[in-house]
Amino acid sequence: MSGWLDPLRRVLDAAPARLAFFFRDDDVGRADERLHPLLDLFSQHTVPIDLAVIPQALAPAVADALCTRIAHASTPIGVHVHGFAHVNHEPAGRKCEFGPARDPAAQRCDLELGRRRIAELLGDAVAPFFTPPWNRCTETTGRLLRELGFRVLSRDAAEPPFGIPGLLEMPVRVDWLRRPSGAPRDLSLVAARLAGAAHDRPAGIMLHHEHMDTEELERLGELLALLGGHARARCCTMESLAAEGRG
Ligand SMILES: [Zn+2]
Repeated sequence: MSGWLDPLRRVLDAAPARLAFFFRDDDVGRADERLHPLLDLFSQHTVPIDLAVIPQALAPAVADALCTRIAHASTPIGVHVHGFAHVNHEPAGRKCEFGPARDPAAQRCDLELGRRRIAELLGDAVAPFFTPPWNRCTETTGRLLRELGFRVLSRDAAEPPFGIPGLLEMPVRVDWLRRPSGAPRDLSLVAARLAGAAHDRPAGIMLHHEHMDTEELERLGELLALLGGHARARCCTMESLAAEGRG
């Protein structure tokens, strides 16, 4: 059934110590009907998950349902800030909400407003962690985050670390949905990426619930079954990894 995961299974079998993994699901606040099936899957496999929430997109009713779920969850669900409105401000080039086109005052304003809104909606559950939309932001953003009391920045592992004291970087290393443009899903590519990332500690895996249909959830369930049941894998929240000082 899950033979496609053999490359990762072999890495785990041969690992001299337990390898750490975390899952970050982005764009919470959008496609609400697809969020709970994903959370059900993580709960079923007793694997923790972190949710990157778009402050401007989160509806109060959805926030209430999420708060109830977090309060009663037997497996931890982390929540943190994902940009502000998830809009592009760059006139050209790669999309970015917190990019070079924005001056520090505008960035600071968005960061403060976003954190305030999300705290109003989700309360104490919110960790002082930040995932920028499209996994990109400037070093200025990093410095502002630190000034505002954020402790963790999560981008893509391909982005060079800022090295800002007090701001732990915890990048994602695998995009579950990434595939060559127009190409059909190739599970061997996903498995190879997972196997390669397992040696990086921790191995962050990025999800987008919006695009997780039944077929995707089934495959993800196979990965969760492997990681949740393997003696050499441990699945963590970003909060617990941050407490260990691991990024
Ligand atoms: Zn996003």
